[in-house]
Amino acid sequence: MPQTAPSQTNQRIDGKRLWDSLMSFAEIGATPKGGVRRLTLTDVDKRGRDRFKAECEALGLTVRVDEIGNMFARRPGRDPNRAPVLFGSHLDSQPSGGKFDGALGVLAGLEVMRSLNDLGITTEAPLELINWTDEEGSRFGHSLMGSGVWTGVYALDKVYGLTDLEGTTVATALDEIGYRGSERATPFAADAYFELHIEQGPFLEREDKQIGIVTGAQAQVWYDLVVTGQDSHAGTTPPSTRKDALVCAARIIDLVDRIMRARGEDGRGTVGQLQVFPNSRNVVPGEVRFSAEFRHPSADEVTRMDEAFQPEARRLAEACGVQLGLSVLFRIPAQPFDPSCVDLVRQGAQKLGYATREIVSGAGHDAVYVARHVPTAMIFTPCKDGLSHNEAESIKPEEAEAGCQVLFEAVVARANRSL
Ligand SMILES: [Zn+2]
Repeated sequence: MPQTAPSQTNQRIDGKRLWDSLMSFAEIGATPKGGVRRLTLTDVDKRGRDRFKAECEALGLTVRVDEIGNMFARRPGRDPNRAPVLFGSHLDSQPSGGKFDGALGVLAGLEVMRSLNDLGITTEAPLELINWTDEEGSRFGHSLMGSGVWTGVYALDKVYGLTDLEGTTVATALDEIGYRGSERATPFAADAYFELHIEQGPFLEREDKQIGIVTGAQAQVWYDLVVTGQDSHAGTTPPSTRKDALVCAARIIDLVDRIMRARGEDGRGTVGQLQVFPNSRNVVPGEVRFSAEFRHPSADEVTRMDEAFQPEARRLAEACGVQLGLSVLFRIPAQPFDPSCVDLVRQGAQKLGYATREIVSGAGHDAVYVARHVPTAMIFTPCKDGLSHNEAESIKPEEAEAGCQVLFEAVVARANRSL
């Protein structure tokens, strides 16, 4: 008697509907070059949030907002006493961001909810789809804000007081768009958290894999640096008396790159922000403020990068005859994800026959903070040329569908597991 392979599923999400929803959502804050500009807690973000809320409510979900603006859309389970299975991502974007960074995880979550409704499935545990506030950090300078407050990494009062370039505080911005909710931003009992996200790196595409099984996130160390030299006339100051802060900064930037390259393909080292004072073409720069950071899958290796960096940066400053202020902004340890949740992602992808690869996340994600309190896993889908934080960010409809289908499998399996 022929047997139906137990691995087959007819519980499919609707890939076309997901794609249409991604394209339609990308019109909110659309830029001429095909990207989006949906800065956190702006009117554009509010439009995105309002749309998300309306779509959730149309599906019968109950939406709550917490005091940092994180949004939770709940679908009841058969057993109201079970802790919910959480999934989601973020709807804010970089100033010139792409259509998929963050939005894919939230809108795929919405598609999971829609599909469950269509299929008439009630999971044992309740489900909650989350839109985290300000993942990107580009307006208030603090990435992973919503998940950071929720998990207690950042103090709410401090975050409320952060300002954007116009001097608007987070608290005011939340009030202005009507998204300072009443629920406390603190971890409630949750059974698991899953986040689908584009890889934002080249490996899945390069190796022709549809699904990245994310096993954890790499360790990071971030610095703020201030080089203080002396402003002086570009035409009259000879080399012997120059205290050129920018020349010193340039040597330190090169040092960051060299320390990274000494780690082969696994190391990361970046200076992405630089402010030159007085920033005048005929003045030797007297002060430079800049950022630096290192990342690596191994926490020990980040420690070694840090140990190589700090003394050598100080030595370079001394050789330039300038002062160096170097402070560690924060260190993030490597964050392994929960093996049982990672396994559900693996099983989901295998069941569907997708080509997979295990991968360590190179980027920070809300999931990395959530993982400190809730068993967590992530799913990556390829993106074209590994490009992200860019208006040209691009994925294929079938890649979005594959990621969403694996999200569906993992969420439903977790929510129906026997306790
Ligand atoms: Zn993102």
